[in-house]
Amino acid sequence: MNPELEELYQEIILDHSRRPRNFGRLPDATVRIHGDNPACGDEIDLDIRFDPEGNLQEIRFSGHGCAISQASASMMTSKLKGKPRTAALDTLRAFHELVAGDGNDSPSLLGDLRMMRGVRRFPQRVKCAMLAWRALEEALRKDSGEATVSTEEPASPLGSGRDQ
Ligand code: ZN
Repeated sequence: MNPELEELYQEIILDHSRRPRNFGRLPDATVRIHGDNPACGDEIDLDIRFDPEGNLQEIRFSGHGCAISQASASMMTSKLKGKPRTAALDTLRAFHELVAGDGNDSPSLLGDLRMMRGVRRFPQRVKCAMLAWRALEEALRKDSGEATVSTEEPASPLGSGRDQ
């Protein structure tokens, strides 16, 4: 394995893909988002239950796909479970910048998620890494109900309203 790939598939990423955290459905989810990444064949279902204050009280995902897509979803749910909505938004923006931006920032708020930085050298893998986060973005936008997102659709700025 070349050094770049080694970085991409660091042990912690492999561990999350083999033993995903918060895997399953939430019967009493407030919002459910289905995410597709047709470029790689990855799919995830993201379920979130907001508490009355709008915190992400429970967050779970299920799905199948490549190691990067599943590890990214697993690490995302571990990071955001129990967090306020504002923290979820900050993390979403920081993660997008980490894998798709051109800056050198690896904000400490991302913690282990910083290991996903290696994907920025592999444009197709960026979609895999962002799949769960695109679903999160849609979940935060909708707040309730169900929707589907695809990595083939351009991301619309959060809050612009793209209700279905
Ligand atoms: Zn993938």
